[in-house]
Amino acid sequence: MNKINYDNLFKETVKTFGGEKKKLLLHSCCAPCSTAVLERLTPFFDVTVFFFNPNITESEEYYLRLNEQKRFLKTAYGDSVELIEGRYFSKEFFYMVEGYEKEIEGGARCNLCFENRLGETAMTALSGGYDYFCSTLTVSPHKNADLINQIGKDLEKKYGVKWLFSDFKKEEGYKRSIEISKEYELYRQRYCGCLYSKYAHIKTEE
Ligand code: SF4
Repeated sequence: MNKINYDNLFKETVKTFGGEKKKLLLHSCCAPCSTAVLERLTPFFDVTVFFFNPNITESEEYYLRLNEQKRFLKTAYGDSVELIEGRYFSKEFFYMVEGYEKEIEGGARCNLCFENRLGETAMTALSGGYDYFCSTLTVSPHKNADLINQIGKDLEKKYGVKWLFSDFKKEEGYKRSIEISKEYELYRQRYCGCLYSKYAHIKTEE
């Protein structure tokens, strides 16, 4: 079966706008991932960043990432890109993944984690009257873009807000995110977010 090129779908979608900017709610996992993604999106969308990440277990880490997100937006975009902070209860994540603790990164626990974060983004986009929603997650080479786009499309059917297909790692997107992060001296975490991913990272360093 041919693999779907989500970057081409992204380009085809924005071509249909005819220069008119659409309203987009962008789920962001962290400032570094948002850098190259915003660079690609802002010519076509009025973007609001939605920081909803209950998967980040430790509150110090959570607020470090959130504050870096705020600092980057303010420095790079002034007031032109707004930020909405989602609720943060790490317990929400642990209840959700009960029974999936031993899954490897990229397995069934991550599916639940994506569904949770993208689902909240879709609901927020619906209540806020956005034209589209999407996520920075596809900029990471460690995340499954097929799965993320499939979840997004299913949520589009459920909530009636359009999912914007993407594979932001294409067109050197991941490389660009590292360059911009360096330029703005952003904190770049070394693990995904949950304690399980932190332990897995520590083990690989041993
Ligand atoms: S590894 Fe990352 S995507 Fe997977 S469950 Fe943990 S925080 Fe979520």
